[in-house]
Amino acid sequence: MKIGILGAGLSGISLAYFLQQNHRISSIEILEQASDIGGLCRSFGFNGISYDIGPHIIFSKDQNILNLMVHVLGDNVKEHRRSNKICYKNRLIKYPLENDLSALPDEDKDYCLKTFLNNPHEKNEAKTLLQYFLKTFGEGITRIYLKPYNEKIWKFDPSLMDTQMAGRIPKPPAEDIIKSASGVPSEGYLHQLYFYYPRTGGISSLVKAFADQLNDNVSIVVESKVVELTRINNKWTVKTDKGKTGKYDVIISTIPVPLLAGIYRPAVPEEIIKAAHALRYNSIIIAVINVKKDNLGDNFAVMIPDKNIIFHRVSKLNFLGENYRHQDDSTTLMAEITYSKDSPIDKMSDADVRNEIIKGLEGIQFIDSREHIRWIETRRIEYAYVINDLHHKTNVNRVRNYFYGQGIRLCGRFGEFEYLNMDAVVSHAQALSEEIGSNI
Ligand SMILES: Cc1cc2nc3c(=O)[nH]c(=O)nc-3n(C[C@H](O)[C@H](O)[C@H](O)COP(=O)(O)OP(=O)(O)OC[C@H]3O[C@@H](n4cnc5c(N)ncnc54)[C@H](O)[C@@H]3O)c2cc1C
Repeated sequence: MKIGILGAGLSGISLAYFLQQNHRISSIEILEQASDIGGLCRSFGFNGISYDIGPHIIFSKDQNILNLMVHVLGDNVKEHRRSNKICYKNRLIKYPLENDLSALPDEDKDYCLKTFLNNPHEKNEAKTLLQYFLKTFGEGITRIYLKPYNEKIWKFDPSLMDTQMAGRIPKPPAEDIIKSASGVPSEGYLHQLYFYYPRTGGISSLVKAFADQLNDNVSIVVESKVVELTRINNKWTVKTDKGKTGKYDVIISTIPVPLLAGIYRPAVPEEIIKAAHALRYNSIIIAVINVKKDNLGDNFAVMIPDKNIIFHRVSKLNFLGENYRHQDDSTTLMAEITYSKDSPIDKMSDADVRNEIIKGLEGIQFIDSREHIRWIETRRIEYAYVINDLHHKTNVNRVRNYFYGQGIRLCGRFGEFEYLNMDAVVSHAQALSEEIGSNI
């Protein structure tokens, strides 16, 4: 039995890790278009600093998967305690905002508390993400932070998004919010309060650690973009841009499903192509900025809901440990900017993006002066976040059912086209390997 996996991100590599334990599988081949494995979990090096596509923290509510990710990293992992903030009117408020209301200006604090305790939306059914915010947090917290921040990160209107994300947002106990308004901060989002991160190499160390445990039956072929997938007599033939042809008994795709729809032969029915292309996602620009002096103190990540600032989050990479900082006193920051296709940000030149970032950092006083910037580098990634618009469920089910019907298994964030973090990706890979194992 020969297995072919399209894509060597965390889902492709962890899937091979689980599948290799099945003795009926003789070989597994993973085809990857990029020059290295990792996908969204790739880390890049610049001037001696490793950085991710947005710092990737390892956390999970699923203790078994968390243990596995930590275990596979061996000694190359460190536990950290979150130190995140929200930047509001140039004040740093502890994240999540509802646990530190007293840090807001008085009138905003009163507005948040009053509309949380006396919330006319509380009994309404929430069909959209915006309705969920209003129902759960009230008007103040929604208007001050949740709505503008979510509009900024998704580049999509939360009143046109469904509530699939809601499960990730814990409902704060009323007493915590009341206490926080009177000056006693508490902790929210407890499942992320502590997180793990590789001591060295960035998050790509996690994917590499899984890859290091693959046996000789597994091969990874990089710089091999899959350009065609064909089923002939229940066998799969894959062609790559290097002219290579591979034949497999089972095929699993972790590549973005709209791309799969374009390379599958015989041609995919028009309504499936339409549904695949109606699946929404956004892209991201990440910028790494080395500065002589910063004003972030011991904080790690700061969310910025202000729409006049181009980025939605700034992280201080020094926080992640000695291997993520220079020996001198400089700081390395990462700014993240999402964008949708053909939007003004998409059309901006990298030089203009960098200029806006510097303006933004000065505007929120994270740096005193642009003279303090030593270097800055930007990178664009097309598939970043899945957007759960109101048609997402219908479209994604239509597309998935079609491919399952064809015998193609889908796995991973854009393979399944779901908002999956690393823990969910590994967990889905494990479940899929069990399903494949019980069917061969
Ligand atoms: C900004 C950002 C921050 C994040 N932060 C966190 C975090 O803090 N914690 C967390 O748990 N998760 C985080 N995530 C989510 C995490 O990155 C994903 O869950 C995970 O990386 C998805 O892995 P994947 O293998 O499913 O997909 P991908 O990483 O997208 O892998 C797909 C692979 O397929 C390859 N491919 C595509 N087309 C072809 C083709 N035609 N032929 C061959 N190969 C192809 C791609 O090059 C890629 O390597 C974050 C994601 C983003 C975007």
